Amino acid sequence: MLIIPQNSPMNADLAHRLAQLRAQIAQAAQSAGRSEDSVTPVAVCKGQSLAAVQTLAHLGVEHFGESYLQEALPRIQQLAGAELTWHFIGRLQANKTRPVATHFSWVHALDRARIAERLNEQRSPLVPPLNVCLQVKLADDPAKGGCAADEVGELVALVHKLPRLRLRGLMCMLPTGLEAAAQSAHFQALQRLQQQLNAGGAQLDTLSMGMSDDFPLAIAGGATLVRIGTALFGPRS
Ligand SMILES: *Cc1c(COP(=O)(O)O)cnc(C)c1O
Repeated sequence: MLIIPQNSPMNADLAHRLAQLRAQIAQAAQSAGRSEDSVTPVAVCKGQSLAAVQTLAHLGVEHFGESYLQEALPRIQQLAGAELTWHFIGRLQANKTRPVATHFSWVHALDRARIAERLNEQRSPLVPPLNVCLQVKLADDPAKGGCAADEVGELVALVHKLPRLRLRGLMCMLPTGLEAAAQSAHFQALQRLQQQLNAGGAQLDTLSMGMSDDFPLAIAGGATLVRIGTALFGPRS
């Protein structure tokens, strides 16, 4: 582990933002009639320094999200002693599934059968199954991945048959530039989809939705994992 100066200005900023985030999560959960520990923040590290990630780990953050493998792998290695939980939240390419299956505990953006099958084959039997969320495309946005809402049922059935994957829930990325009412409508649509799938026996306990700008609305819509980058770390480099 790196030794970092305990009282650096960076640490004070991170501590302040973390306290603020926790208070906002608690507030949003309470307003929605939910317990605050039903929502877990995943600290999104892309474009951030190793020292900042390490400071948050020291401050008690356990869940970290990575979008790019080449940035993530050295960081995961350097922080291996810290018992952190790593989430791969980026788009998955078929030729990059092995390091994800090897070094991560969660995958959030699974959206097709071929990737699911590869992750299942590549996940070691010596570690717990890989937790996965299926990314759902709620609006037509060519910039974002995800499977169509009416195809999710098929993917759920497939993933349930893969023993090295543990299907946990659904994930969405909203198109940019939506107003609050439209953001809420998307979050509620993902929650309804989860409820429909659960009524059919899917047993999904996770909704990965909400980022720095919209996480209170996502929590109102039932988010259990919120993926927070800039609101926690500050601007990305
Ligand atoms: C970058 C990113 C986030 C975090 O974005 P912020 O707006 O900085 O909170 C969340 N989810 C995914 C998939 C991302 O790529």
